[in-house]
Amino acid sequence: MSVLDGTVAEMAAALRAKAISSVELTRALLARVDTAQPALNAFITIDAEGALAQAAAADAALADGHAPALAGVPIAHKDVLMTAGLRTTCGSRMLADYIAPYDAHVVSKLRDAGTVLVGKTNMDEFAMGSSNESSYFGPVRNPWNADHVPGGSSGGSAAAVAARLVPAASGTDTGGSIRQPASFTGICGLKPTYGRCSRYGLVAYASSLDTPGVFARTAQDCGLILNAMAGHDPRDATSLPRPREDCTRDLAQPLAGLRIGLPRQYFGDGVDADVARAIEAALDEYRAQGAVTVAVDLPNVGLSVAVYYVLAPAEASSNLSRFDGVRYGHRAAHYTDLVDMYKKSRAEGFGAEVKRRILTGTYVLSHGYYDAYYLKAQKVRRLIADDFARAYAQCDVLMGPVTPRTAYRLGENADDPVQMYLGDIFTIAGNLTGTPGISIPCGFDRQGLPIGLLIQGPALTEARLLNVAHRFQQATDWHARVPGEAR
Ligand code: GLN
Repeated sequence: MSVLDGTVAEMAAALRAKAISSVELTRALLARVDTAQPALNAFITIDAEGALAQAAAADAALADGHAPALAGVPIAHKDVLMTAGLRTTCGSRMLADYIAPYDAHVVSKLRDAGTVLVGKTNMDEFAMGSSNESSYFGPVRNPWNADHVPGGSSGGSAAAVAARLVPAASGTDTGGSIRQPASFTGICGLKPTYGRCSRYGLVAYASSLDTPGVFARTAQDCGLILNAMAGHDPRDATSLPRPREDCTRDLAQPLAGLRIGLPRQYFGDGVDADVARAIEAALDEYRAQGAVTVAVDLPNVGLSVAVYYVLAPAEASSNLSRFDGVRYGHRAAHYTDLVDMYKKSRAEGFGAEVKRRILTGTYVLSHGYYDAYYLKAQKVRRLIADDFARAYAQCDVLMGPVTPRTAYRLGENADDPVQMYLGDIFTIAGNLTGTPGISIPCGFDRQGLPIGLLIQGPALTEARLLNVAHRFQQATDWHARVPGEAR
């Protein structure tokens, strides 16, 4: 197998062994990116020149033996993370020409680890969406079937990793935007514990939920990238002050005695038959490895979508008020006075989904509705967190499907936002509770589209989740399937 198809771990090893230089590797992957771009539209910005300069620097560090852990490994970042000197658009017309003046904390951490940034990936506008159809820069296509969506909002990162354009990419997850596109494209997506990775330089959507994380093809790679991007950052008040932790330390631990909680609410009627079958088969594999399954109850989890679509728009309406055409972003060419300038700039700069959420958020925060919606949602958020705490008293991890269905066709849900919102039913609670989760591939449906298994755990159990995911990947080869090849 070519090193171009390798994992992060394999590429890092090949670079260290001088089997290939980073400039050669980067050049070859940039060629793949260019070839795939017309069909997939996974990137908004491709930075060939910058990438090759970083690759040359990595080669120099590798030559003198002082290279950091991931020296020379090409990656991509979701275009919601600020990258100094490079366009950061958030998939919006509002920021179509915006050059970030500084790096997000996770971006600078991954630079320090030696990674090479090939470009910025396409996404739903301001990370609002589940299908990547709300991007100002056009939809992303699913590498397994171009008529289907790759999921969202981090659809470009997911498609790029699934199509083997890069071995890993960053994403952000506010309600499922890493785990759901990972599931739709047959790769791994890790949403860390809230506060493990800094939000500094992540353009805010819903600050109490936004979580930077990782796409890769293996659990091991997710751990390697997480190790590099996690860490305390005093510039984010919610960043956890914790000592450095190696989240790959337990990868190989046997699973005998692992208690897997199966929430009743995750195995109901709404789940597609192929998805349900694949999840059952994955659970059988875990039982074969000595894990035990226990039924658990999350009585309030069914309210999580409703809670999210009050709280996230509320926070978004506040966060997005900074885009006023004055300080940065799009400004209307013609206006009569200041208020008209605000109105026209925002009307032109934002797309329909962003406007829908700003309107909803402003409404639920307004005098007279605040108690009925925003405050009520905060109370239910607490009840959902209590449900999870009770469940984790009976088990080590929770498992279930990532989504009720596999990737749908482009346009299929475009006119029905509520139907689209309901697809986040299994992922959103992880954001409301700040807890980590990983999506790993576990099969294909009758159309040949990937199915994902969601593994969730209590706060700060990433090492355990990666161990549970890794042992499955040691025994199965779903993660090794390549789009376009016979399955
Ligand atoms: N699909 C969800 C939404 O539309 C989640 C988005 C996200 O996690 N950024 O808001």
